[in-house]
Amino acid sequence: METFPRADERSRMVEQQIRARGITNPRVLDAMREIPRHLFVPPPHTSSAYIDAPLPIGNGQTISQPYIVALMTDLLEPRPEDRVLEIGAGSGYQAAILARLVRQVTTIERIHTVADLARKNIASLGLKNVSIIVGDGTEGYRESAPYDGIIITAATPQIPPPLIDQLDEGGILVAPVGGRDIQELIALKKHHGKTVQSSHGGVRFVPLIGEYGWTDT
Ligand code: SAM
Repeated sequence: METFPRADERSRMVEQQIRARGITNPRVLDAMREIPRHLFVPPPHTSSAYIDAPLPIGNGQTISQPYIVALMTDLLEPRPEDRVLEIGAGSGYQAAILARLVRQVTTIERIHTVADLARKNIASLGLKNVSIIVGDGTEGYRESAPYDGIIITAATPQIPPPLIDQLDEGGILVAPVGGRDIQELIALKKHHGKTVQSSHGGVRFVPLIGEYGWTDT
């Protein structure tokens, strides 16, 4: 992949915000260094793209804090041969990071205009292994299941049961689970049809709206 402008800011972001907080997976750090986050942050916040915070992307939605993107990516334990499902495409940034690390990324977004933004951003990088679907991601996407990894990038009151069904044996699901305002970051592993969960700290995400998420109020 070509080197995009603002590489120095990305290097600082990786060292000060991500490696300093304990993430050491070199593949994840390289992807965070490569993908130009500023292309995913619309005006008027583009100049702030490398700060240590989530930022608005329009339609009341956000691009997550860089450290949280890196942490969730690391928890997925991405391998080059993996197929990953993301719920909540947003700007497409998380999908672009994953696209550098795994074989295929399918990402679902419920808001048409936001999905269009993600499509435009992904296309501008020339990434060919990302499919963007419009729909209710709480139902998953059976057409390309099962998945080695599933990542939910919106706050959910529970892990939607269809997503556990669509996770392959040995697969990992990462999600912010809890209340509408504050959640716990959960990593769930599926072994012999059973699931084992671990907790990775408090987070704040916009709500997952859908059949197995929150209602749109
Ligand atoms: N991953 C995104 C990125 O890299 O920019 C950030 C995701 S943003 C925090 C959460 C996104 O989830 C929003 O764009 C929102 O519209 C979407 N969303 C909420 N409920 C959804 C659902 N049921 N299915 C698909 N997308 C959903």
